[in-house]
Amino acid sequence: MSDVLILNGRLVDPASGVDAARDLLLRGGRIAAVEVPGGFKGVKVAETIDAAGMVVAPGLVDVHVHLREPGQTYKESIATGTAAAAAGGFTSVVAMPNTVPVNDSVAGLEWMLDATRGACVKLFAMPAATFGSMGEEITDFHELRRAGAVGFTDDGKPVLHDRVMREALVAAAGIGVPVSQHAEDTRLTGGCSMNAGPVAFRLGLRGMTVEAEARIVERDIRLLRDIERHDGLRPHLHVQHVSTAKAMDLIRGAKAEGLHVTCEVAPHHFTLTDEAIGDYDSNAKMNPPLRNDADRLAMIAGLMDGTVDCIATDHAPHALFEKEQEFERAPNGITGLETALGLALRVLHKGHGMTLRRVMELMSAQPAGIVSLEGRGTLKVGSFADVVVFDPVAEWSFEAKRSRSKSRNTPFDGAPMLGRVAFTLSEGRVVFKG
Ligand SMILES: [Zn+2]
Repeated sequence: MSDVLILNGRLVDPASGVDAARDLLLRGGRIAAVEVPGGFKGVKVAETIDAAGMVVAPGLVDVHVHLREPGQTYKESIATGTAAAAAGGFTSVVAMPNTVPVNDSVAGLEWMLDATRGACVKLFAMPAATFGSMGEEITDFHELRRAGAVGFTDDGKPVLHDRVMREALVAAAGIGVPVSQHAEDTRLTGGCSMNAGPVAFRLGLRGMTVEAEARIVERDIRLLRDIERHDGLRPHLHVQHVSTAKAMDLIRGAKAEGLHVTCEVAPHHFTLTDEAIGDYDSNAKMNPPLRNDADRLAMIAGLMDGTVDCIATDHAPHALFEKEQEFERAPNGITGLETALGLALRVLHKGHGMTLRRVMELMSAQPAGIVSLEGRGTLKVGSFADVVVFDPVAEWSFEAKRSRSKSRNTPFDGAPMLGRVAFTLSEGRVVFKG
């Protein structure tokens, strides 16, 4: 592996508290040294990246992606999904277990993480919390953790039964990893394909209420409290893709109480509302659904005030023929890896005055912390040379047809973006060049 110098950039590394002009030397896949500009004069390397006018930041970390392999590689593969990640500035992604078959065994997990799958950025995985994600019997957390699991989830579905969720939280607490919950009380959402409200009425569709999300978050918080009191453990609940003001308030309260709750918000939930569905556009269909503007603003408030720990894409590729069905039949989900940074910078940084440092914290340091990725999410000396170099003022439009993903299901085709990735480096190797 050859040495790389990244010169003349503005280093934004929230974990080490640096936001200043710095040069970086990458050696052996690690950050070898960080110096003030000019500090590496005379150092000979194989490759030099001129980052003048650019931000140099820790490679982005996404704790919520669907890479569709094994079983549905017509939608995406580990190779294409991680290529899309690299194009979006991501250097670590956590694959969800709702593959075919469900990732609920050590053999399945090892197969997924094997180098021959061709991941071009660092791939991590959260196996299923219950066998087949059926919500009945928890998987072997110890063995799966030993094989590399960074958490457990039945994403796509909630762990509905109180007893099973309690068991999962206790088992995960014993090994220091989170249980990631898709908060949806499916007993309230049968037959629903979008958010409940005036838009659903106009379209004649059944809508999911905010209570369906809030009820699971409320129940899970109750379980955390109960386990802390009675089992002497400190379980970690991670609430996935929060979409409602009501759930956000519950999480804010649980954090104030001192419980170990973290949560993520997806870019589409702070950018769009259910109005984006327009005339039954299935590229605006995902679960949880796009909500109303008060909920959207509540996501931004949570991102600004620290209630939200990270931005996660919920990258969920689907083939054109699947999304071209009538709205109610079309599958949930949109691609998101290549639009996350551009939307975060446009909506949060430019639109709402969030500092670049806070954006980077939400997209690198904090998501890395949630799943305890050692040596990632920071550019401190000694950490992995996972780096994104981007132009923070470049304005551009996302073109779905140029996506590295196999799928094109996005409501952001043609949408304005702010900030363009110039280089993504994974452990010192350039894996994307803009
Ligand atoms: Zn989900």
